[in-house]
Amino acid sequence: MRLVLLGPPGAGKGTQAKEISKRMSIPHISTGDMFRQAIKEGTELGKQAEAYLKEGRLVPDTITIGLIQERLTMPDTHNGFLLDGFPRTKPQAEALDRWLDGQGANIDYVLNIEVPREQILIRLTGRRICKGCGATYHVQYNPPQNSGICDFCGEKLSQRPDDTETVVSHRLDVYVEQTSLLVKYYREKGILKEIDGSHDIPEVTQAIGMALGSDWR
Ligand code: ADP
Ligand code: AMP
Repeated sequence: MRLVLLGPPGAGKGTQAKEISKRMSIPHISTGDMFRQAIKEGTELGKQAEAYLKEGRLVPDTITIGLIQERLTMPDTHNGFLLDGFPRTKPQAEALDRWLDGQGANIDYVLNIEVPREQILIRLTGRRICKGCGATYHVQYNPPQNSGICDFCGEKLSQRPDDTETVVSHRLDVYVEQTSLLVKYYREKGILKEIDGSHDIPEVTQAIGMALGSDWR
């Protein structure tokens, strides 16, 4: 199964992706995570991407498309994958379609997770992440057992530098201007599934399960 998660920053894509990936045994591929890892490692890609992430702007299409194509040639994607945060522009979506077409493949479903802007602001400013294992928490909605400490690996939790109110506000504008048009793009292809992401985490997972029907395990 080849899936795409669409929705504004903070909609809960990463949170749901972990569950979907586990249940469907497909790799969770997040371009945001890949860029952050490259920045942490100080690679050439990291140097190119750093300023864009810091300011909440999109990394140029040529860099991002190259990165995802390289990732999709890895053997763990042969039985499917779950894309989170890609595509984010029409050229990215078209490049993905062309590339899959060349492999005789296609996207099965695009899950569009919708959440009102006021809720997103609360979700993103309260988000905490573990740099050790990548787990995501929320101070109020999904807190760790011991405040500020990761349940899985015991590392100290931190806030993403782009989760400040000013950068979040800019990222949401970028979503409206450059990414939201993909909802129409995928609806016209007949593969869009609308998910109400405003409920609590297990309820949203359940809604995704229902949208995927018999493909959900
Ligand atoms: P995205 O990957 O779409 O940017 P995340 O999955 O990182 O979003 O979620 C953003 C924040 O909101 C995190 O702190 C997460 O714990 C929290 N969150 C995710 N889903 C929900 C939900 N359904 N209800 C409340 N908080 C949520
Ligand atoms: P995310 O982790 O999905 O919130 O992404 C964090 C940041 O990484 C974004 O604000 C962008 O700067 C960059 N990024 C992630 N995915 C893409 C993409 N598909 N195209 C361009 N930039 C991206």
